[in-house]
Amino acid sequence: MDTPQNTLLVVLQIVSLVLALLMLIAVQQVRHRQGVVLWVSAFAILALSQFGRELVEVAWGYRVGRSIGHMGGALTYGVLYIGIRVYLGLVPRIGWSLLALAAAAAMSIEAIFAHQNYISLAGTACFTAMFQALTATTLWKAWRRDGGLGRSGAAIAFALSALGSVGRAISLIPDWHPGMDLVGVNMFWLLDFIAMMIVQAGCLLFLVNQALLDELQNMADYDTLTGLLNRGGLARRMQRQGSRMTASDKRLGVLCLDLDHFKVVNDTLGHGAGDDVLKRMGGFLRENCRTRDIPSRQGGEEFGMIVEAGSEDELIALGERLRMLVEQMPFATRAGNVTVTISIGVALTTGSGDTIDAVGDRADLALLRAKRSGRNRVMLSAPSDHGTVEAKPCISDPA
Ligand code: GH3
Ligand code: MG
Ligand code: MG
Repeated sequence: MDTPQNTLLVVLQIVSLVLALLMLIAVQQVRHRQGVVLWVSAFAILALSQFGRELVEVAWGYRVGRSIGHMGGALTYGVLYIGIRVYLGLVPRIGWSLLALAAAAAMSIEAIFAHQNYISLAGTACFTAMFQALTATTLWKAWRRDGGLGRSGAAIAFALSALGSVGRAISLIPDWHPGMDLVGVNMFWLLDFIAMMIVQAGCLLFLVNQALLDELQNMADYDTLTGLLNRGGLARRMQRQGSRMTASDKRLGVLCLDLDHFKVVNDTLGHGAGDDVLKRMGGFLRENCRTRDIPSRQGGEEFGMIVEAGSEDELIALGERLRMLVEQMPFATRAGNVTVTISIGVALTTGSGDTIDAVGDRADLALLRAKRSGRNRVMLSAPSDHGTVEAKPCISDPA
């Protein structure tokens, strides 16, 4: 083998080893996500297959060694494909991948023993391309489902790598390019392979970074006790979703729900039992909302629900149903079962200029009236609530 190509193979070996070490950072960062260890293994396999090739060439001769070197790429991308599927929570397809790898190995050994080195290389490059293309489609589908620049970027990187591997395979079939310097051609594609490998590793680290950012965002958006969106999370969700939520014949409605005399629960049963009630209330709202409704915990013992409704009557009926269910429901707590009641204020968007914040304020005022008029009831926002700013809280009303 000529020296420049040897040098490139050493570069490949070093780069894949460095990338395997870099992937260890990803393992550290997302310990709770499976599959990343396989990414480390994939890049390590590439480095090891080059070591293995050299060792085997010395021990058992050059042919078997060559086959190991050629198989390194296909094996790397087979393992990476499985690793990425596991990371994304998909079925890994291990059996199918092993079968493809066994076919690649059989083809490579057969070609090498028939003195067709370049056919072995082109054939294994085809299998590499197949795994890269499958990885690209898997990531693309994940992007279509969940979005994110990390997923789309990685999908594009793997798709380009697959094209590179196909290009390498096509340009290395000796009969198709008589008289061509295949060593030089292979070196070009080897360089492309190394460059693309670095890009892929960068994209994978970006993917992990995105997962961490998503987790942070979730921690900021969701209330840990109830698992519902918190006030800020709801505001961000509404900003993203905007008016897309409403069907043409429906309007947005807001329900403000507040537990009645919740302080008494805390004072008599303790804060732990109070927490249990709030947690169960979160579960109750989740169980009793439709797919497009958005329940939230606005803070303390106050909850919110954004829903689609055709009329104010529909909104009141929904509130009434929730109120009655809560009234009849035993809330299991660490201090035993308790019953609680809720007061609900509801408001519906009136026209195109009406914002969700304004509707929320009106539902809040309606809630205040529900409290004042005796609690455990549903109150609709009144026309006088439009533009009203009422700051006086209602905490000491006798029930
Ligand atoms: P009202 O019917 O007027 O709403 O009376 P209330 O007692 O429910 O309302 P108040 O505002 O007087 O008290 C709310 C209580 O909710 C006081 C506070 O300690 C309790 N609380 C707020 N957040 C939590 C929480 O996360 N856990 C527990 N256990 N209690 C909470
Ligand atoms: Mg309350
Ligand atoms: Mg309250």
